[in-house]
Amino acid sequence: MLVSLKELMKDAEKGGYAVGAFNVSNLESLMAIMQAAEETGCGVILNYAEVHAPFLSMEQAALIMLDAAKKAKVPVCVHLDHGSSMESCIQAIRLGFTSVMLDASAEDYETNVRETKEIVRLAHSVGVTVEAELGHIFSSDMGLAESPKEAETLESFDSAEDVYTDPATAKDFVERTGVDVLAIAFGTTHGIYTKKPKLDLERITKIKEAIDIPFVMHGGSGLSKEEFQTAIRNGIRKINYYTYMTLAGGRAVKEALDQKSPDENIFFHDIPMIAMEAMKENVKEAIQVFGMEV
Ligand SMILES: [Zn+2]
Repeated sequence: MLVSLKELMKDAEKGGYAVGAFNVSNLESLMAIMQAAEETGCGVILNYAEVHAPFLSMEQAALIMLDAAKKAKVPVCVHLDHGSSMESCIQAIRLGFTSVMLDASAEDYETNVRETKEIVRLAHSVGVTVEAELGHIFSSDMGLAESPKEAETLESFDSAEDVYTDPATAKDFVERTGVDVLAIAFGTTHGIYTKKPKLDLERITKIKEAIDIPFVMHGGSGLSKEEFQTAIRNGIRKINYYTYMTLAGGRAVKEALDQKSPDENIFFHDIPMIAMEAMKENVKEAIQVFGMEV
């Protein structure tokens, strides 16, 4: 069933777990996520990110994500990930998304407050949940043209305070904007981890003490089970996970093709299904870790 992010977050808060938010970049990733959700009996968040527009437009994504969400037995939220502007958020709301993220974290603080507050006012009037971001979540190779190959680290910046979310600022931001959930920076990276990340998991607790709302971990791929579970215990309720899922799909296709002899026929319709099965298993594992079922 189609639900808002707020509903999923309320249950996650009560149960002390996190809900996986997985990106839909094509039909196969949607199938993988939905089958994993149904087979584990857990609710999920379907993320659509504008960086995937070359593969799937927001309109196309809305049609297939909403259809899958409405037919599902488990609760499913349809969410705009990293909305690049107020206009993108409005477009998503109009298409039927039940949750939007406005990412104005690269803007100055007052602009981030002003724009988030405005989108919260508009979204709440139609029952849509809003996520915002505060601090800087690192980036590395995400397999997209514009993503950096080398992972950003703390050393890439002048000081930790420019990067990690500050508890007092988070409190001020949430109180002034009325945002429902907040993506916080504590050392995770979007894309592939080229070296072990230095996570400040205690920071989540400190932010939670300052402001008690559900927090979001971006760059959720590639951490250890223990790191995920400590982050969840400290207050993370939504985990964005995509890179290692799509890598699992790619790896499975490569292995299957490597096993073919040079003169063997390859039917293209088999290839997406190989990726789908591998992504499904990867998503199931993630759902189990985030649900603290170990
Ligand atoms: Zn992100």
